[in-house]
Amino acid sequence: MVHFVGAGPGAVDLITVRGQDLLREADRVIYAGSLVNPAFLELCKDGCICLNSATMTLEEVLDAIINAEREGLTTVRLHTGDTGLYSTIREQMDRLDALRIPYDVTPGVSSFSASAAAVHAEFTLPGVSQTLIITRMPGRTPVPDTEDMAALAKHRASMAVFLSASLLDRLTAKLLEGGLQADTPAAIVYKASWPDEKVIMCTVGTLEKAAREAGVSTTAMILIGAFLNGAGERSRLYDPSFTHMFREGTVAD
Ligand code: SAH
Repeated sequence: MVHFVGAGPGAVDLITVRGQDLLREADRVIYAGSLVNPAFLELCKDGCICLNSATMTLEEVLDAIINAEREGLTTVRLHTGDTGLYSTIREQMDRLDALRIPYDVTPGVSSFSASAAAVHAEFTLPGVSQTLIITRMPGRTPVPDTEDMAALAKHRASMAVFLSASLLDRLTAKLLEGGLQADTPAAIVYKASWPDEKVIMCTVGTLEKAAREAGVSTTAMILIGAFLNGAGERSRLYDPSFTHMFREGTVAD
C-alpha cells in the first residue's frame, strides 16, 4: 500500500495526526527533500528506509514503490504542503493506477495557509475580497494563456503566488498590466513555519527590491491584495442582529 501524505509547510507539528501516524508505521519513506523538513524522518520506525526524491527521477521513485509493493511493504510518499497543489502526485497516481497498485492520499496544510497565518491575515474579508486566486508565474512549467497573471489580477481578488520568488520583476509588471496599483499591499513569506521564517511586507511595486534586500529568492509565498491591509466591513456571521442556524439575532435574514 502507498500513502501520499502532505507534510505541511515545514514545522514538524503542522503535519496532520493521520499523516504522522502513517509516517511512524511506514517501511519506506520517499520524501521531497528540497522542501520537506528532514526532522520528519526522526518519526520513522527502526528499519524504515528513507529516500530523498530530490535526487531521483519519476521512474526511480516508481521503481522504489514497486519494489516495496513486491515485498508487501508500506510506502509513504511525503510531499510538502498539501498534496493537491503543485505536488506532482497526479503523474505518480496515474502510473500506480496502470500497475493496479493501491494508494490513498492524506492532505496537508498548504504553504499558502501557513503564509496567511504568518502575516496574521485572512484572505476573505467582507467588502474587500471573497475570492482567493492560487497561481504561479510561468517558469520551466508553462501556465495556460487563459491564466495569464495580468488577466487574473483584473479580478482584484486576494492572491497567493507560488513558485515565483525568482521572477518578481516579471510578476510586478504583469500585476501592473492587469491594473493593480503599484502601492497595492504585498507580502513575501519565506519558509513559513520554519525556524528561519521571514516575513517581508511590501507593495506590488517593491516586490523585487524587498526580496533582494532580504536575500530571498526561493521557497517563498507571495501574497497580494487589499486583504493585507486588515478588516473591511465586519462579518455578518457574528453581527448581533444577524439570525442564522445556531443563533437568534435581533433581525431575521
Ligand atoms: N504542495 C505545496 C507547494 C509545493 S510547490 C504546498 O501546498 O504548499 C513549492 C512552492 O511552494 C515554493 O516555491 C513556494 O512558493 C511554496 N512554499 C512551499 N513551502 C513554503 C513555505 N514553508 N513558506 C512559503 N512558501 C512555501
